[in-house]
This record gives sequence, C-alpha cells and structure tokens, in this order.
Amino acid sequence: MIEIKGAVKNYEWGGYHYLPTLLDSNEENDRPVAELWFGDHHSGSSTLVDGSLLTKWIELSPEYHLGKRLVQKFGCRLPYLLKILDVREPLSIQVHPTIMQAKQGYAREMVMNVDPGCRSYKDNNHKPELMLALSDFYLLHGFRNVTKGVYELNKYQTLKPLVLMYQELGIKNFVSAIFSLPVSELESLLVPVIEQYRSAYLQNEISKSQSLFWFMRAVQRIEREKMPLDAGLIMIFIMNLMYVPKGGVVYQNAGIPHAYLEGQNIELMANSDNVVRCGLTSKHIDIKELLLITDFEPITPTIVAGRPSNDGGIDYIVPADDFRLREYHLEKGQTLTTPDENGACIWFVLSGELMLGSQQHYSNAGSAFYQRPGEVNVIHATSDVLLYRASASIA
Ligand SMILES: [Zn+2]
Repeated sequence: MIEIKGAVKNYEWGGYHYLPTLLDSNEENDRPVAELWFGDHHSGSSTLVDGSLLTKWIELSPEYHLGKRLVQKFGCRLPYLLKILDVREPLSIQVHPTIMQAKQGYAREMVMNVDPGCRSYKDNNHKPELMLALSDFYLLHGFRNVTKGVYELNKYQTLKPLVLMYQELGIKNFVSAIFSLPVSELESLLVPVIEQYRSAYLQNEISKSQSLFWFMRAVQRIEREKMPLDAGLIMIFIMNLMYVPKGGVVYQNAGIPHAYLEGQNIELMANSDNVVRCGLTSKHIDIKELLLITDFEPITPTIVAGRPSNDGGIDYIVPADDFRLREYHLEKGQTLTTPDENGACIWFVLSGELMLGSQQHYSNAGSAFYQRPGEVNVIHATSDVLLYRASASIA
C-alpha cells in the first residue's frame, strides 16, 4: 500500500476546525476547510507523499494500478471518489444525473461551448452518493408527501397562497412555478416569515428538528452575502428534513434532490462532479435541466443498514457498482489481513493508530492509503482503530 494525501477544498460553507484537526495541520485556518478528496478526479487529485499526482501515477499503468477487471468495467480511472466533509453552513440544494443524462448533457454543453461558470456537466459520468455521518448530521433529502408539505406551508400566514398552487399544480409544476417567481414576489411571501421568526432564531428558540430553523439559517447567509432571496427557501418546506445520528448511512441516487445542512460525514460517490443546482445558491440554476432530471415523487428517507462482511467489517451496499464502503472497528492489538481484492482500494483511518506489517510504517487518524489489486497487507492496530475502505464492485 502507498500513502496518499487528500486534496483540500476551501469552500465557503466549510468549517474551520474539523478537517485541520483531523489532518494535524499547523496552518492558519483563516479560510474554511470544507472537503478532503481521496481519488483521481481531475478537479482534485490526491497526491503521493512526494507531491506527485495520483492521477498521473495511475495513468502510468492503469491495469497494474487499477486492476484489469476494473479497467474493463469502468475505464482507466478510479470509478469512485472518497471525500470527508465538514458542513458548517447549508450547501446548495442539488440533483445529480443518471449516466445517460450525464453523457447527453456533457456532449450538449461541449457543443454549445457553455461558459464554465454556467456548466452543470463537468464530465460524462453519473454521481450516485453514499454518506456516513461522522457527527449528528442534518440534510434535506427528496420531496415530502404533499400532505406534510401543505402542513408546513400552512404554518405561515403569507405562504398560504403557495398552498393552493402546490395542491393544484403538483410538486413538479409547483417547483417550476416558484423558480419563475420574480424576486419582488418572493420577498412579499418570505420577508414577513423572516421578520416574524428572526428574534426566535437568534435566541436559539427554534429546534433543528424544524424546517423553519434551516430556513432561517439559510436566510442568514443570503443576507450576509447580500444575495437575492431564492426559491430554494421554499424548497426547504417541501423537502424531507432528515436527521442522521453519528454512524448512520444515507444513499442518494440520481434524481433525488438533496442539500447537506450541518455536520461532518464521509461521502463515497461515483467519480464525477456533475451537479445540477436547485436553489440556495448564487451559482447558475438551469431550471430546464433541473425539471428534466429531478425525481419529483415523494419519498420516505431511510437509513442504509450495514451487513457484516466475512473479514469482520461492515459493508454498506447500495445499488451502484461504482463504489462499496466497508467499515472496520479494530481493537488494540488486533490484526487485519487486507483482503485480496480484484480492484484498487482506498483506505482511510478515521481514528486510532496502526502499523502496516510489511512497511513498519506507523499511521494515525487522517491517513489514507492506496491498495493495488491483488496486494495483501497486514494492518496491526496499535490502539483501537476505526478504518474505512472504499472499493468498487466488479462482480
Ligand atoms: Zn450531492
């Protein structure tokens, strides 16, 4: 196994402490640290310890570094991308495409020579995502059923006109309608709600279990950054608000609108950066594309249950072959012989210390390793260790 270093992403919504602490970084944290990427995506490749790019290393000999079967199934790059996220402020609401939609969208935007800032398709791959909460975690995930949405909207006097629209139009046409509202109309609907609850929010009197809390939190950012009010604020009331306890796992398939609101997580996804935005953003919203690829059927959010693997780990299996997440809890003194997988794996040490048998190399929390196909290593836990492994399904 070789050690790899994650690519750091300093997005505005990130936190200041979690990732620098995990990485034991002494750098001044004047910029938020939002994401750490482990993989070979061209927008943020991991590096080897000598600073060279993992992307280049894989390109030198794809079959040797990725495995023949993995190359046959997914091509000459890692099929997955592993990230650690620290969400301090709500992200934009977003939807990811299917493979077919991504291929068509990417080709179309290339032909039309769309400005990079307005592009939804940065590659031709789908981006199903799995997240595992590393803390209490809150997110918006899919649409509520209409009865629940009506109940939420009806709580606020000035939103009552929306209730009728929502019931008559159905979710899809309602979303289309609110994204066509002029800002002045959004203001007359939303400003009274904002003013009514501002002091309660500021005095911590609204619980995080209420959609209103996240509405007010999103408003804080919009006001601070002097952004116009955005129909994404209405989306908060018609989407499922999901609380995920530490260790809980959620899967987001193509078409499911979602937004991370607060907390830390591990994200494992297909190796893509294709995002169609759906509000709570100052970035470009392609409403036509959004209506085309979003799944407007209401859903009941579920937690993905882990299954014991034959080597003492826990597998989180989802209907995407591009990635598998396995979790290992090792006790101090325990050893783990890393399985003889058919494709490349990335290992991430979340907590504890371990030693790699063949290399006498000590590693602690925040470390990551790349394992070539067929490689067998022995991991010795020198303290209690929590370890994650990303791989692909090539069956
Ligand atoms: Zn996403």
